[in-house]
Amino acid sequence: MTSAPQKPFTATVLGLPRVGPRRELKRATEAYWAGAIDAARLHAVARELRRDQLTGLHAAGLDSIPIGTFSYYDQMLDTAVLLGALPPRVAGIADPLDRYFVAARGTDTVEPLELTKWFDTNYHYLIPEIGPDTAFALHPEKLLAELREALELGLPARPVVIGPITFLKLAKGTSGSPLARLAEVLPLYRELLRQLAHAGAQWVQIDEPVLVTDLSAEEIDLVRVTYGELSGATDRPAILLATYFGHPGAALAALASTAIEGVALDFTSGTDVSAVTATPGLASKLVVAGIVDGRNVWRTDLDRALATLTALPGSAAHVAVSSSCSLLHVPYTLTAETRLDERLRSWLAFGTEKVTEVRLLATGLREGPQAIHAELTTARAALASRRSDPRLNNPRVRARLAELGPDAARRAPAEQRRELQRARLRLPVLPTTTIGSYPQTSAIRLARAALRTGKIDQAEYVRRMRAEIADVVALQEDLGLDVLVHGEPERNDMVQYFAEQLDGFATTEHGWVQSYATLCVRPPILFADVARRGPMTVEWIGYAQSLTDKPVKGILTGPVTILAWSFVRDDQPLGDSARQVALAIREETVDLQSAGIRIIQVDEPALRELLPLRTVDQPAYLEWSVAAFRLATSGVSDATQIHTHMCYSEFGKVIGAIAGLDADVTSIVAARSHMEVLDDLNAAGFDRGIGPGVYAVHSPRVPSVDEIITSLRAALKAVPAERLWVNPDCGLKARGRTEVEASLRNMVAAAAAMR
Ligand code: GLN
Ligand code: ZN
Repeated sequence: MTSAPQKPFTATVLGLPRVGPRRELKRATEAYWAGAIDAARLHAVARELRRDQLTGLHAAGLDSIPIGTFSYYDQMLDTAVLLGALPPRVAGIADPLDRYFVAARGTDTVEPLELTKWFDTNYHYLIPEIGPDTAFALHPEKLLAELREALELGLPARPVVIGPITFLKLAKGTSGSPLARLAEVLPLYRELLRQLAHAGAQWVQIDEPVLVTDLSAEEIDLVRVTYGELSGATDRPAILLATYFGHPGAALAALASTAIEGVALDFTSGTDVSAVTATPGLASKLVVAGIVDGRNVWRTDLDRALATLTALPGSAAHVAVSSSCSLLHVPYTLTAETRLDERLRSWLAFGTEKVTEVRLLATGLREGPQAIHAELTTARAALASRRSDPRLNNPRVRARLAELGPDAARRAPAEQRRELQRARLRLPVLPTTTIGSYPQTSAIRLARAALRTGKIDQAEYVRRMRAEIADVVALQEDLGLDVLVHGEPERNDMVQYFAEQLDGFATTEHGWVQSYATLCVRPPILFADVARRGPMTVEWIGYAQSLTDKPVKGILTGPVTILAWSFVRDDQPLGDSARQVALAIREETVDLQSAGIRIIQVDEPALRELLPLRTVDQPAYLEWSVAAFRLATSGVSDATQIHTHMCYSEFGKVIGAIAGLDADVTSIVAARSHMEVLDDLNAAGFDRGIGPGVYAVHSPRVPSVDEIITSLRAALKAVPAERLWVNPDCGLKARGRTEVEASLRNMVAAAAAMR
């Protein structure tokens, strides 16, 4: 076993989805959690899914197949297990699978690891905790078993691991920076490489997506040293270092200076041919060109991709074709979709179709374009059909946006609006409200399913939803809340609900993508100009308002969040798409206002997650995203109060943008009884109404009146009473009715006591 030149490969993908084409793993995992199946059964389901998937990839012509991107929960958690870095609080759990799931999900007494977004994707990973008690130790059993399984199937298996720099940089240090522990982790990686080589791996893929974020000069040095050291060992497979979601910048030269055998680069987001030509050290390495977009659903422009591939130095012998990142972020296959518009379908490529594109490009690169002549012709026709589709150009929408201009804003300044709204709404000091949704009961879900399967008709569905709304309004009146909501019973999802009613969006039947663990979402596809067909929410919200004299706050989803949770167009800047969605939301706010709604909340929980990974790209993003929000919310009169809601407590780089949104009231998550976020907002000059969540909705626990009073007291240290709102920290849709009632009763009592 040496690092002697390994056979380079020609076609691969960087990683794979794992929930199963029909979400089989989701169902099995949930059954295991519920105690309905045992671990052996769960493992059997997983093994079968892997076998079908991996052999399928081989049959489709990939000559190097990623192994170990399968996970029962999350790849970062798997890496924590691999390195012996689970938190000490789960160490007492003897069964490894149960220990793993407790680390991920917690129990009544054990806090789980925290979840957060994986770079700028919609996937969530578990944040490893590295503390003084972390005693790193190698546990390669899972990876070795999956490697063995693949080799027994006769597959050209390439084990994949998350690299030490990414792992440590994304971990949370309970004492000091985790990256300071690199020297302890490196020997484990070296030993892992040795064991993988002995088990028969020709190549190993080490993922370092953190290299596409801003790194300090010292960190770039660490990259050089780390990979110098790992590639310096002789007893190892060839190393493919994978970066994705952006360009590695200065880290590329650092990598090129080491003896690693290959680099995977994301040609769909920032890397281009010149980055490769400008890095001489790459000439002797395999460049794995991620040219098939692993994060979006569009068919690849094969001609353009082939031109890029051909322009790469080192000729075909040194270039392999790949997806830009793991296929985790796209649905399994287009063939499962039966209801897509045929034209739109011809423009798309999901997971299996992307694998085919990779294979075709690899053939085209080696044998010349004539070898894939027929497929090039089909691809060209599809692209031409897309470019010429009239739906891509809605003159009404474009004219209206031109008329509104780039900086639509509300007429009166905030102070003036405040007076107008105060006179109109006559709310008490410390007004109480909620974020929008009330519990999505099984009756609501059953009604939706019954409508879908035709068991009930639209009229019956409307009747049931109205009954839910009436119920929630009555509850809120009884609780004594000041600003009511309709409860959002009719919304399956805060993005899909709107996408289904807007021109320009398509939805899928089986286009599931893992968000975290067993939670999957079906992102809508934004494929054309967006236009509102008619009112989307007015019937429901107006009905709620007809039942009460108190103001009902109308809830809409904001343009940035609608884009963040959809597959978006790649033929125009995201900011242009945002303006179109904003216009549709704006039209809705105007209709709500006409229906007597005096307060409108435009939710933007995703404002921060779309923030570009590189600092240089952030100002432009913040500019268009803030402008889109203002466009969406400036169609109403100054006496209509605009709220927004965001779901994170650390605003960091977006804090200035919060003030820029120019909302009259903002509700946010705030750490219980600390409320540091309010100081940050003050420091950023924010002087509007603010509702720092006074209790957390993510657990069923009912907060006491005293606890809420403590939160309010802490908030009042930072914010004058005239600006403070009293609300939970997020929507209540996942909670039970009894907890919600008890919690809100305490919240209202606490506000009354404070007044
Ligand atoms: N209005 C939504 C709700 O209450 C907001 C959800 C969110 O912030 N993600 O459910
Ligand atoms: Zn929220």
